Amino acid sequence: MSGRLQSKTALITGAGSGIGLESSLLFAQEGANVLLADINLAAVEKATALVQQRFPNIKALAVKADVGKEADIKAAVDLAVSEFGRLDVMFNNAGIMHPEDDNALNTEERIWDLTMQINLKGVWWGCKYAILAMRQNPVDEARGLHTGGSIINTASFVAIMGAATPQLAYTASKGGVLAMTRELAMVHAREGIRINSLCPGPLKTPLLMDFLNTPEKRDRRLVHLPMGRFGEAVELAKAALFLASDESSYMTGTDFKVDGGLTSAYVTPL
Ligand code: NAD
Repeated sequence: MSGRLQSKTALITGAGSGIGLESSLLFAQEGANVLLADINLAAVEKATALVQQRFPNIKALAVKADVGKEADIKAAVDLAVSEFGRLDVMFNNAGIMHPEDDNALNTEERIWDLTMQINLKGVWWGCKYAILAMRQNPVDEARGLHTGGSIINTASFVAIMGAATPQLAYTASKGGVLAMTRELAMVHAREGIRINSLCPGPLKTPLLMDFLNTPEKRDRRLVHLPMGRFGEAVELAKAALFLASDESSYMTGTDFKVDGGLTSAYVTPL
């Protein structure tokens, strides 16, 4: 049976956990060869072993890469192209939410800079090297589809809404991802390269749950969630799969929200 990403290749950053891990599994299930990149080598090797175990016909490789370093991203893209022959999907998903990120008065410059380095510059570099690689892909005339490539950049609902529980650098970095993605999508629209943002709502992954480490902190958020629950990483992976596949062939430059209705909410159900 032909999968939704059959014969495609994908590079996923932050693949050792959460959205990146679930997306690696789902992309492989749908037929893509996958390069899993993460700063945490042990985590990404474990994730890759899981992909290989579940989908033995798929090529899955692990690479240690810090998206805050341009050379690491270039090396990862080069590896994907040399191992798989081409790059079809780049999922710039890795991100951090630093525990010392706070409001305008308390956030230290080093926290701001580190957050921007990983969350915003890392996405820029991921786009840069993916675009260069995707420009080498032939357009699929037979199917009448532009299959130059799909780039997905993980932003966040906080790029759209204000929160009185501040993480200023994180919020600003994700706003930058949305704005940058829109502009890149326009610049490269006629090259057959689609570039979209994915805006998750609050999820039950280590990134958020390590931070919301008391029932009080979790309840402070849960009251605002229309569905009354945090999202699951796999629910974002399904959205990433749609953006990665040709099913979203007429979508570029969008802020694709997968947030349980959060950004549409005023008063939520009791
Ligand atoms: P997670 O913590 O489960 O996974 C993040 C992965 O990124 C980890 O494996 C980590 O090792 C890796 N990573 C961290 N810094 C890196 C770096 N410099 N280079 C390469 N890899 C690095 O988090 P998640 O919830 O799956 O988050 C994935 C993305 O979704 C992030 O960009 C995050 O900001 C965004 N997001 C998450 C939520 C949420 O509630 N969890 C909400 C909105 C947006």
